[in-house]
Amino acid sequence: MPIAEKMVKMVEGMKMVKQMFEEGARLKAEHGTENVFDFSLGNPDVPPPPEFKKVLTDLVSDDSLYHGYTPNPGYPHVRQAVADYLSKEHDVNFTPDMIVMTVGAAGALNDTLKSLLNPGEEILTPSPYFVGYEHYAFIANATIKTVPTDTGFHLDVSAIDNAISEKTRVMLINSPNNPTGAVYSSEELTELGNVLNQASQKYGKRIYLVADEPYRKITYDVNVPSIFQAYPHTVAVSSYSKELSLAGERIGYLAVHPEAEDAELVAAAAAVTNTMLCVNAPSLLQLAVSQLQGVTVDVSIYRRRRDMLCQDLSEIGYDFNVPDGAFYLFPKSPISDDVKFVSILKEELILAVPGTGFGGPGYFRLSYAVPESTITGSMKGFKRALEKV
Ligand code: PLP
Repeated sequence: MPIAEKMVKMVEGMKMVKQMFEEGARLKAEHGTENVFDFSLGNPDVPPPPEFKKVLTDLVSDDSLYHGYTPNPGYPHVRQAVADYLSKEHDVNFTPDMIVMTVGAAGALNDTLKSLLNPGEEILTPSPYFVGYEHYAFIANATIKTVPTDTGFHLDVSAIDNAISEKTRVMLINSPNNPTGAVYSSEELTELGNVLNQASQKYGKRIYLVADEPYRKITYDVNVPSIFQAYPHTVAVSSYSKELSLAGERIGYLAVHPEAEDAELVAAAAAVTNTMLCVNAPSLLQLAVSQLQGVTVDVSIYRRRRDMLCQDLSEIGYDFNVPDGAFYLFPKSPISDDVKFVSILKEELILAVPGTGFGGPGYFRLSYAVPESTITGSMKGFKRALEKV
């Protein structure tokens, strides 16, 4: 075998994703793009805010713009700008050395998990969960252990307490959540913090909380509480992929709570892994986002789509929790076999992702990072699919 044995399974797994894309492309070629209702991708389609174009234009018109390597954790003034913004947002005193600029939230997760976990240690994460976590755990030589959420997809803190073992090093949470759209409240986060503190004492090792927050700014009438206030031994990872609609530009960061146990060491390790994995985050994008702290896409566009999708699907008879954030809806599959139901939707030229892929069987995920016409055009098909089952 010319490739590493452990990669064989990974390649097989990615083949399924590739087949899904190819099938979608085939349907679009056969029936016309406008007749296929593709809710399968979490790829932001809302334009970046106008400030982005201005900042980028000014940067590229400057003859002194430098294209060389940047310091590995990022330009000091960029990390300072991120630290200043986060200090205000979270009421915690971040210094630039607690920040590492990364290749998206994915890069930040890889840096963080690789820094924190010994081989064989566990990452505990609530299910349903973002599929990328399997990949980041694989790269960190760690294992993912899942713990179910409650019926509203919120944290079941006593189940988390029971699931923690001597192998747990990291609790990984994602709020606003992909795929469910749930936003965790400050009460549940505080409870989680208490459980992590007690478990760290019980097992004689610090359990770190890793908060994956790339959808932090995409919420509807709820606040995303500060994770740093709930538990100090926290690394938050985030990006500008969704809040500025820059997913393809690959820019993000990680922030270590300055009072976390061994905070300097954790931040230094993450800077080293960042160097090893990607050398440095894209230079031009570092410079751009440093001038766009607190700027976000027009969230009202996602809100309108969420409201349309929820209203139309509920009138037809689908059952779901109205999402408080991100741009995903996670309805209950009308039959227990969600993979089968997604294939029935496909017969109606509707592309969705089975919940099974997120560790949430019995549900399916719809991304509403799609034009409103996709939502309205799909409703007859959603109705027919329900009638079929
Ligand atoms: N975490 C979650 C929950 C996501 O949904 C995504 C991307 O969709 C990522 C992390 C990776 O984000 P980025 O594009 O910033 O690397």
